[in-house]
This record gives sequence, structure tokens and C-alpha cells, in this order.
Amino acid sequence: MDKDKIRDTVRQKFTEYLTAKKCRKTPERYAILDLIYSKSGHFDMDTLYEAMNNEHFRVSRGTLYNTMQLLLDCKLVLKHQFGNNLSYYEKAFNNDFHHHLICNQCGTVQEYKDNDLKSLIQSKKIKRFTPVLYSLYIFGTCGKCASTKKRK
Ligand SMILES: [Zn+2]
Ligand SMILES: [Zn+2]
Repeated sequence: MDKDKIRDTVRQKFTEYLTAKKCRKTPERYAILDLIYSKSGHFDMDTLYEAMNNEHFRVSRGTLYNTMQLLLDCKLVLKHQFGNNLSYYEKAFNNDFHHHLICNQCGTVQEYKDNDLKSLIQSKKIKRFTPVLYSLYIFGTCGKCASTKKRK
């Protein structure tokens, strides 16, 4: 799917959700959605807030938090907690499925794609439970931190 198509599709999904929930369809909400879908990788709320106010139009933190809640609720955005107290977000629609490698020393998060692991988990039948979503976090030491350690 190309970028424009993705943008239109997620806007459409968001519109359906807002209509169903009787929420207002403000331009700010769509601008936040567009910004999130123009990004790749993971981001926290502060980064998003800065990007929003630098490149687009000014929104309050309240509007941003509130919109993020709506986007999480309609599954257009995923939320992660990578072992610290900060929450990280990433787009959910048409995003390549990946696992996460998290460095215990510097806190960097890398995307880790492994199709064997993916099909293994997806092929699992769980009794009286229908999985919708899962995430796998692998904690350890990244290459950078490992080589810094060696040099010391
Ligand atoms: Zn590291
Ligand atoms: Zn991710």
C-alpha cells in the first residue's frame, strides 16, 4: 500500500470510529493522525508534542493526550512500555509486524523482524482464548553498549 492510500484508509477508519462514538471530528485530531502515520518507528508523547508544534499547528497537550486515547481505542496506534516508566507509541495499521529488542544499558529499542517466530506464535491454538494482538520484548545489551564495555 502506498502512503496516500494508507493515509486515506486510516482517516476513514478514524472517521467511522469518531462517528460511532459521537466524538467531534476536529482538524487537530486528523493532523495528529497524519503526523503519526508519517513517522516510522517508536516515539514518546514529548517527541510527538514537539513535532506537532514545530511542523504543523499548535495543539495543547490535553488535545494530544485525548486524541491518543481515541487512536489507541480504535487500534490505529499501539502503546508499549519498554521496561521504563515512559510509554512509547507506534502506528498500528499496515505496520510491518515486528518484535522489540531493548537495551538495558542505554534504553534503545530496535525493531526485530523474525518470520519464524511470528508464524510460530500465530499458529498456536490457545484453548478458550482468541488472540488479537501480542508483543514480544527481548531485553539485553545492544551492539554499541557491548563494544563500549569491551573497550573499557
Ligand atoms: Zn545499548
Ligand atoms: Zn515496534
